[in-house]
Amino acid sequence: MSFDIDVIKSFYQSLPEKIQEIRKRLGRPLTLSEKILFSHLAEGSQIADIRRGTDYAAFKPDRVAMQDATAQMALLQFMVTGKERVSVPSTVHCDHLITGKSGAGPDLKSALGTNNEVYEFLSSVCSKFDIGFWKPGAGIIHQVILENYAFPGGMMIGTDSHTPTAGGLGMIAPGVGGADAVDVMTGMAWELKFPEIIGVKLTGSLNGWTSAKDIILKLTGMLTVKGGTGSVIEYFGEGARSLSCTGKSTICNMGAETGATCSLFGFDKAMADFLTSTERGEVAELASNQLDNLTGDAEVYAEPEKYFDQVIEIDLSSLEPYINGPFTPDRAIPVSQMKEEAAKNGWPLKVETGLIGSCTNSSYEDISRAASVVKNAISQKLIPKAELIVIPGSERIRVIAERDGFMDIFREAGSEVFANACGPCIGQWDRKGSDKSEVNTVIHSFNRNFAKRTDGNPNTHAFVASPEIVAAIAFSGNLAFNPLTDTLMNSEGREVKLSEPEGINLPPDTISGAETGYQEPAKNGNSNEIIIAADSERLQALVPFNEWDGSDFSDLPLLIKAKGKCTTDHISMAGFWLKYRGHLENISNNYMIGAVNFFNEKTNLVLNQLTKEYDHVPAVARAYKSAGIGTVVAGEENFGEGSSREHAAMEPRYLNVKAVIVKSFARIHETNLKKQGVLTLTFSDKDDYDKIREDDRFNISGLKGFAPGKQLDIVLKHADGSIDNLKANHSYNETQIAWFKAGSALNIFRKSSKKS
Ligand code: SF4
Repeated sequence: MSFDIDVIKSFYQSLPEKIQEIRKRLGRPLTLSEKILFSHLAEGSQIADIRRGTDYAAFKPDRVAMQDATAQMALLQFMVTGKERVSVPSTVHCDHLITGKSGAGPDLKSALGTNNEVYEFLSSVCSKFDIGFWKPGAGIIHQVILENYAFPGGMMIGTDSHTPTAGGLGMIAPGVGGADAVDVMTGMAWELKFPEIIGVKLTGSLNGWTSAKDIILKLTGMLTVKGGTGSVIEYFGEGARSLSCTGKSTICNMGAETGATCSLFGFDKAMADFLTSTERGEVAELASNQLDNLTGDAEVYAEPEKYFDQVIEIDLSSLEPYINGPFTPDRAIPVSQMKEEAAKNGWPLKVETGLIGSCTNSSYEDISRAASVVKNAISQKLIPKAELIVIPGSERIRVIAERDGFMDIFREAGSEVFANACGPCIGQWDRKGSDKSEVNTVIHSFNRNFAKRTDGNPNTHAFVASPEIVAAIAFSGNLAFNPLTDTLMNSEGREVKLSEPEGINLPPDTISGAETGYQEPAKNGNSNEIIIAADSERLQALVPFNEWDGSDFSDLPLLIKAKGKCTTDHISMAGFWLKYRGHLENISNNYMIGAVNFFNEKTNLVLNQLTKEYDHVPAVARAYKSAGIGTVVAGEENFGEGSSREHAAMEPRYLNVKAVIVKSFARIHETNLKKQGVLTLTFSDKDDYDKIREDDRFNISGLKGFAPGKQLDIVLKHADGSIDNLKANHSYNETQIAWFKAGSALNIFRKSSKKS
């Protein structure tokens, strides 16, 4: 079934004319990223005037996707806009709130009980506002989008940072905060600084143990967690064409770990085959009819240095499997060097658990390759030394993998199969003993491995690898095991070597009529009132934030000066806290509890300048708030990297944080803060970070003349009476300054819809 086929048909009908116009305006060959971005500009945009990496542009995406943890806040915001239905096709996917513990059946049953209130809310809001609803157990948002909605040349936004997975089907698909989703669902344009474009040329072809995951593991190591910031990564070359569609999606998915806005491959046969295999042959045919518009121009790929902002080349034929980690996804270690690296750093070599799944690696191909390793190991009388957990990406994949015997192979090896959901990838893993904080190692095929992310234990060393490497290492129980060269002792005392994995790109035949977990919205919306219980702990109607009062900020105490890495997991933890994603007041109790306080190197312990005592960050923030005092948060590089969760921006706003000043921001988090009305600043001299003392007060002036490109002044008032004068940069444009003044972007929409 092809969802929204009329929207897709009309898009392809208008595409040739749009591309012709773009080519005429720019007068040069075009990258694929430009073709898609420019063809989605909002009306009235001046193509020729837009400079990459500098100018903001307004876009009209084709669709919106939301996962259940972020959808709650996005829909609570949508509800206050007064709109009767969404303006573009939109969907909600229930994947983040299912805890993995006892296996798919019992875990799903338990989630339906625990999260009933939230699921009921999401289901009824979706039905009312014409939004497609994917029930718990239907699958992980990005896998479901890939299988049902993504189409070459399209543009979507999603309230999840791994929305770029759809780039594997040729779609520009950035992750955004819920407020951005609300803009698009209400029919407004979506603003983004026009990205730079990194061209990645793939030569050769994969072989043996190496898979698509290793390409992105290597690239993440090359670019680091901020090297892709503000850019689209466009892949091309014979190596790109040699990859399966789901392999391409794995690469685009984990491009988020470089900070990239999104990643992208040009349309090719692998995509057409995937579309056909997922019962969208009609879309494959439409796309095949305009191949030239759905790939970059030949001149671009012949001389990439002329057209991309940066060019990187990776030879797939000589690529080695990688294992990235621990604690950061950009620490890329070739499998042959892990022994040395682990010894040098004192990482525990004994692997407790291997986990296969997540939106990065849960395709049919992934499952089949990992299953081939397991099958080979069993046939050689090997017994897994580590626990092995398998998490299918969607119900569709699970049913087919079950039908084709792969799940039986995993079960024969004693593996546990969790529900089709995020589970341990987002801390939803009720792992026995994790509360003891023991130092241990796990390896998984997910994309992120920040401290505490899988099981809440800060001492779990989580490593990221391909599903087949995870399977091999689960059998060896040793992080330093290299399946390319090493042997294992089997249950009969013989040394055996694992065979290279064998995978199947696509299922030999599809399934029809299976229950997918989709709920259609009510045909013409419905007039049901959405009721939120006044005493609910999970859901709370939103109260609009106050407007800026027109004054400069003065005498704001420092709330916390965060030291080192400060991701959205540090700012607003997942795991246990996911249950409060629809309740701003309650979830604000996790604000910055994972961030390290520069002054005492501890988490969740900061000075309250009013009492001169130390307390938890949210408690101190609330104390200032109830005294009518705003605060400042300071941080270092790439502040807010990681997830798109806007709670990390709404919580400080709710807790009366007036400004966040850092060395640099991650894109989505910076936009989220701006949208909620928190002032986002960067040090013009990064060394100024060192001047901030624990008991400082901040004056921030220049707000009356707040203008694009104009610095603001900060006076740091130290407790000993001395001061430091700093200059702060910002990246606000006129529209964003209006958000700040109105108190939030949503306030602007509410005002304008009241007038009309
Ligand atoms: S990265 Fe993990 S938590 Fe996020 S959507 Fe993918 S599977 Fe879910």
